[in-house]
Amino acid sequence: MTSIRAIAAGAAVLASLCSFVAPAKAQTYPTRGITMIVPFAAGGPTDVISRIVTSHMAQTLGQSIVIENVVGAGGTTATARAARAANDGYTLITGHMGTHAASVPLYPKLAYHPEKDFEPIALLAGTPILILARKDFPPKDLEEFVAYVKANAEKVNAAHAGIGSVSHVSCELLHAILDVKPVGVPFNGTGPAMNALVAGQVDYMCDQIVNAVPQINAGTIKAYAIATAERNPSLPNVPTTAEAGLPAFQAQAWNAMFAPKGTSPAIIASLNAAALKALDDETVKKRLLELGSVIPGPAERTPEALATLVKNEIAKWSPVLKPAT
Ligand code: ASP
Repeated sequence: MTSIRAIAAGAAVLASLCSFVAPAKAQTYPTRGITMIVPFAAGGPTDVISRIVTSHMAQTLGQSIVIENVVGAGGTTATARAARAANDGYTLITGHMGTHAASVPLYPKLAYHPEKDFEPIALLAGTPILILARKDFPPKDLEEFVAYVKANAEKVNAAHAGIGSVSHVSCELLHAILDVKPVGVPFNGTGPAMNALVAGQVDYMCDQIVNAVPQINAGTIKAYAIATAERNPSLPNVPTTAEAGLPAFQAQAWNAMFAPKGTSPAIIASLNAAALKALDDETVKKRLLELGSVIPGPAERTPEALATLVKNEIAKWSPVLKPAT
């Protein structure tokens, strides 16, 4: 009798505890899985960075974050979809310098505006650009590459991830400096473009470092130079463009997380905090650094700082890039 009463009392306590806990929990974001749209194919820089960061964020938030690769039109198809998603914090996007800046001048009919249709969450990584080539591409170094591409501009081709992607825009910049217009070969991301480069099906590519480090170290592709002021610790033997004779070519991209416009400030704050916690995690940090990423410093970590970056990058690219024809 006593034990039955004790069980009943225990159950009552439990029930009241549950009824006390349940409503509070129901109001706490997130209560279900989150979808992270990646606007390029799996295995590319945006996908890799997203997976590294979101797997840690999922632990912090206590919910799964599922990556959905939505490809096409240099990342703008996915970004338009993310802009129209419900602004409830359950559909987010990892955008970048292409989708959230360079696409503005390149696509006059862009179905979204990076500033008006998104709430910035957090900058995840800076990604230096490298000039890469298939391993049997004849030029030995950057000087020879420049001469070769100028002499063979009608024959050589450059892989990229679609009009407005970082790889496209970066090589456009390079081609403008060299005053050449080689053929571009579009892929759904630089993951598949890298596979084609490794297989020797395309000649060269201007890619973000994250995609390139494992291949350069494995000797499956050539790296002529990194387009930043300093060498990258992950690739100490790859010269800077200045060291290799082409100082005018400077390029570093960035990848960042965004939510549809109107997502509540509380949700943005909790996503920003989870993203920063991920960036400060030793394992996450080590992985990102091994892949050559630049981890955002304290002043770059707020949603406001990301909003400013987007604004400045649109202003920077708009006079440089003309609408795609
Ligand atoms: N970031 C893209 C990717 O992840 C490629 C690009 O923008 O060039 O494939």
